[in-house]
Amino acid sequence: MLNPVRMTVLASGSKGNSTVIASARTRILVDAGLSCRELLKRMAAVGEDPAALTAILITHEHQDHVAGLAVLARRLNIPVFFTEPTHRAWVRMLTPRTTMTYAKWLDHVQAEKEARAQAAAMAVAAEVSAVLTQDASVEISGEADPDFALHVDPDAAEESCEPEETRAAVKANPTFLPAVEYFQAGQTFCIGDIDINPFTIPHDAADPCGFVFHARSETIRMAVATDLGYVPPNVKQALKGVDVLLLESNHDLEMLKDGPYPWSVKQRVLSRVGHLSNHAAAEFLLRDYDGGAHTIVLGHLSESNNLPELAKLAAEQAIGNRMTLLGNRIVLAAQHEPLEPICL
Ligand SMILES: [Zn+2]
Ligand SMILES: [Zn+2]
Repeated sequence: MLNPVRMTVLASGSKGNSTVIASARTRILVDAGLSCRELLKRMAAVGEDPAALTAILITHEHQDHVAGLAVLARRLNIPVFFTEPTHRAWVRMLTPRTTMTYAKWLDHVQAEKEARAQAAAMAVAAEVSAVLTQDASVEISGEADPDFALHVDPDAAEESCEPEETRAAVKANPTFLPAVEYFQAGQTFCIGDIDINPFTIPHDAADPCGFVFHARSETIRMAVATDLGYVPPNVKQALKGVDVLLLESNHDLEMLKDGPYPWSVKQRVLSRVGHLSNHAAAEFLLRDYDGGAHTIVLGHLSESNNLPELAKLAAEQAIGNRMTLLGNRIVLAAQHEPLEPICL
């Protein structure tokens, strides 16, 4: 039996990101950056029941965070929480030929609401098990994370596993979701018994956010902070007092500089709205981190420009330099397999 309060990293890295945050009553999937099929497979592998998910929460619209989003949300028939700019960017990404004015966007939102009401009337029920045995493909285009653009998963979506009624709605509108909820960075909201503090992160997306999750019944805090070019004061502030921290440690500076990426992509990764280096993560741990976390998970490691040993060594040295923090456990999140649930 799993401890009710836990963080389970299903995947982390430039080919896809997804993490389950669970309390006794609520289970939230943070990002859906693998195919629906792969996400369900990984949840099964670590004992997370997809049917028990309450909602999906999106950090930003880059492909490595949303590749399986639409199919999974429709399959499980659960709401998706975005900021409004992120939702807009995602919709534009899936309808790239449309130049959407704000008036058109409002029309679109209205049309989507009507489509949802219609679909609800048709009682679209999802059978999770069915998707495990079926597959198909659909093209997804649009903006990608700089680190993700180089390797797009061909299994990025699978529409044909959806019920007939949903397929009809999707044909009319590929951005159809069972329900959309908006939140704003800096404004706490809740899903079930988890309070969520979304904070702005510096990254080249429409309105990217990190999150602190507070499982109310257990007074436990878990944070997700990946895809940030540096650690600004609001992020340092938000990450105080967390019990489990998923922190980006994307690249080794030397490996990135000497690595295979084109110069323009290197510049983007290195920029203030790119990704956090091992060095920058270590600097945060050394200077700004309060030392309270039971576990620090290093995530979003680049496969081309980092080595797990380098990321871990940098973080361990930073923590090790502060004697009071020797109790901290550092683990590495992986791209190709889920991590064991981190229970508290
Ligand atoms: Zn990413
Ligand atoms: Zn990104």
